[in-house]
Amino acid sequence: MIKQTDLKNYKDIWVFAEIDEITKQIRSVTLELLTAAKRLSGELNCKVGLVIIGQDNKKYFEEFAKYGAEIIYNIEDSSFTHYDTQNYAQILIALTKKYKPEAILYPSTYMGRDLAPRVASRLGCGLTADCTALSVKDGFLVQSRPAFGGNIMADIICPNTRPQMASVRPNILPKTQVNKIADLKIIEEHFKAVSSKVRLVKTQKDETSEILKLEEADIVIAIGRGVKDQKTFAFIKELASKLGAALGATRPVIESGLLAKNHQIGQSGVSIKPKIYISFGVSGALQHTIGMQNSDLIISVNKDNKAPIFNICQYGFVAEAQQIVPKILQAINKLK
Ligand SMILES: Cc1cc2nc3c(=O)[nH]c(=O)nc-3n(C[C@H](O)[C@H](O)[C@H](O)COP(=O)(O)OP(=O)(O)OC[C@H]3O[C@@H](n4cnc5c(N)ncnc54)[C@H](O)[C@@H]3O)c2cc1C
Repeated sequence: MIKQTDLKNYKDIWVFAEIDEITKQIRSVTLELLTAAKRLSGELNCKVGLVIIGQDNKKYFEEFAKYGAEIIYNIEDSSFTHYDTQNYAQILIALTKKYKPEAILYPSTYMGRDLAPRVASRLGCGLTADCTALSVKDGFLVQSRPAFGGNIMADIICPNTRPQMASVRPNILPKTQVNKIADLKIIEEHFKAVSSKVRLVKTQKDETSEILKLEEADIVIAIGRGVKDQKTFAFIKELASKLGAALGATRPVIESGLLAKNHQIGQSGVSIKPKIYISFGVSGALQHTIGMQNSDLIISVNKDNKAPIFNICQYGFVAEAQQIVPKILQAINKLK
């Protein structure tokens, strides 16, 4: 456990970089975290560091710098090409002990969710998972996230331990390039792979994964409890296919069995940021909107003109879903 008196020795805010193992592209959430780290570093008066573990990392550095990275801790070795909990954790723990970052931000992805708790537990520091906002108050990193079933927003600080650690889901925070790119400082570190309990047999992209489709889709159609009958559901599926949209849903719809769990948008589902989000029969409860409120354009259909979703949408239609969906389909068919 880190003693309170040591806190002043900790500086800089780090981002753990995630590269998609299949596409070899930087995962967008890494750039979202860098954008946040850059903003926070202004208030904490520190630098933005980024830790990347893998192979052929250098090709990503320019992009990291565009989003605010100032120091890159580069761990490059063929043994670390694929994510491995034990190896990645031992590296982060060693780097943290050596360079003492004030805060570390992780993507709340399968990788980040696996890695961050292990690092936190080994370092004896806190971790706030699935933050929806990050700010600074009195020199502390304020980690905001829904609590008590999403009924309140909790602001969490870590006054006694370092580093302050938080994870954020993809599509929650904005990503913005910096105006002035800093001169990058590269710190090469070398580690030996430890014998891991995990043996990687095969890596394969799950083409059927609705989570990926939802996270990456330009258009998402969301179905709420207001869509009750199979006929309207079938029309909405046809509409989604015509628009090339991914299908999402609220929790009650998932619980009714109409769609599988991996279609759920919201606090206990997926966060999305499509160009267009269209909802039918969704009330707009906080636990849902937390996962879609960053969509570029929100269009909502609800029969109740007081539905909360109308407070956040750009276009709202007070209508019965079962009446309006066939009409939209008809109009689209005419256009084609
Ligand atoms: C810990 C916790 C986590 C949760 N996580 C999530 C989550 O991840 N995602 C999520 O979505 N929810 C989540 N919930 C549930 C959330 O609180 C809401 O209950 C849920 O989002 C409501 O779903 P809904 O809008 O489909 O249903 P309702 O709130 O019942 O709304 C249905 C809407 O449909 C409208 N309607 C009815 N008939 C029609 C019609 N014919 N045409 C048009 N409109 C019609 C109604 O006016 C109403 O506004 C969570 C709750 C808790 C406690």
